[in-house]
Amino acid sequence: MSDLILFWHRRDLRISDNTGLATARQRSAKVVGVFCLDPNILERDDVAPVRVTYMIGCLQALQKRYAQAGSQLLILHAHPTQAIPALAEALGAKAVFWNWDVEPYSQERDRIIISALKEKGIEFLENNWDQVLHAPEDIRTGSNQPYTVYTPFWKNWISKPKAEPVETLENAEGLTEKEKEIAKSAGVIALPSAKDLGFVWDGELIIAPGEQAAQERLEEFCDRAINEYQEQRNFPAVDGTSRLSAALKFGAIGIRRVWQATQEVWENSRSEETQSNIRTWQQELAWREFYQHAMYNFPELAAGAYRDAFKNFPWEINHEHFQAWCEGKTGYPIVDAAMRQMNEIGWMHNRCRMIVASFLTKDLLINPQMGERYFMQKLIDGDLSANNGGWQWSASSGMDPKPVRIFNPASQAQKFDPEAEYIRQWVPELRSFDTEYLVTGKITPLERQAVGYPAPIVDHKLQQKMFKERYQQQKVQP
Ligand code: FAD
Repeated sequence: MSDLILFWHRRDLRISDNTGLATARQRSAKVVGVFCLDPNILERDDVAPVRVTYMIGCLQALQKRYAQAGSQLLILHAHPTQAIPALAEALGAKAVFWNWDVEPYSQERDRIIISALKEKGIEFLENNWDQVLHAPEDIRTGSNQPYTVYTPFWKNWISKPKAEPVETLENAEGLTEKEKEIAKSAGVIALPSAKDLGFVWDGELIIAPGEQAAQERLEEFCDRAINEYQEQRNFPAVDGTSRLSAALKFGAIGIRRVWQATQEVWENSRSEETQSNIRTWQQELAWREFYQHAMYNFPELAAGAYRDAFKNFPWEINHEHFQAWCEGKTGYPIVDAAMRQMNEIGWMHNRCRMIVASFLTKDLLINPQMGERYFMQKLIDGDLSANNGGWQWSASSGMDPKPVRIFNPASQAQKFDPEAEYIRQWVPELRSFDTEYLVTGKITPLERQAVGYPAPIVDHKLQQKMFKERYQQQKVQP
């Protein structure tokens, strides 16, 4: 057995501030990265081409970073349960290290790999958390239970000291020429493009791939928008949020580095107002962890509603309505603008994610799982925990104690897109209408027809009444 440690990257596509990778480097100078393109993930029906394109871009950047550090990132395209232990064995690696993940599939896959490594006498790194500031085991209630409500979770989470970024991998030793040949025989391939894998995305990416781009975006956000985040984050026409979600999903940036950047702005700011803006952004990072911990502690969330009232909810089966929602043709301008934004750029503003999710579930009475899946098919940042958490929150089927939350599309547009800039940007056929008509949606059938814009597919007032009635019935059922 050699001194080689293979570091298996999954959702940590960077070499800086990577806890598992730093531990590997402390244990050995010979650290080689590996990424496995997993058919179990890539062949699912909810994979967004934009997400794969971003991921492949991150892997290209990561290969360069490994080369700068003196080592390599190897690529496999195979089932990791066989391919990872087989590669480690072929190369005589003494260990395979990786960072832990919260998702049910990853946990099951990792358990299989652990037992294969154990059998071969190859070491692994147990229970190493990297993508969260606090491990799920560390944030528990007084009676040692996982939290199911955000506010007490946040209070506990923010009270705990946060770790500093860890050392970046530098000066590592890579594979010899002979070992590279062995790696090839064990299935190592050149990095394919997203198109090679069957995923075509010709649009721009909302964030450039790789750790350098993520770091630059973080710096830019901390210099500017974070100072007004509390107010600006709600307006979809304003570039007031970080747009770091894809980088956080794929770990193009380390969460300790992100935290440190927010703390630096905090320490340099003199006004309470700025600090309160920073606090609000930090609360979003805590939402991210709240949903990750929830997924880890309650894996059944991935399969459906958390609250009993929604486990057998009589959702409508209406393909036409669902299709109109997907295509941004519901006749509700703010809903359509949001859906078209996601379809076109692979990202949607958070306020609009809440509006369209409420519309699908409370106005169209369609099962949130259909919307959740469609989001995964389209989003660059599509992430099981955050997406499931967002959908369960919007559908009222999740952990949040407030039972029924219904967004009125017109009031939302009036409040958060008061000049209809966002609507005009994404629904071009409506550009010439007065703002008031766009935000209230009060456009006559003739005017709609003239520009080829659909009539509202449902009546908001009637539908929300129907939703409430069905909800009351479900609540009283034993
Ligand atoms: P910022 O406002 O700058 O927030 C910073 C970071 O905090 C985000 O990048 C994200 O990592 C995290 N964050 C912010 N809000 C939330 C939240 N409500 N829940 C969890 N994490 C949050 N986020 C995803 O990353 N992937 C998803 O698949 C996803 N699906 C969603 C589905 C619905 C129905 C809803 C309501 C929300 C969803 N979100 C999802 C959360 C949120 O909308 C996005 O994280 C956010 O819009 C990304 O933009 P940003 O990076 O500019 O966010």
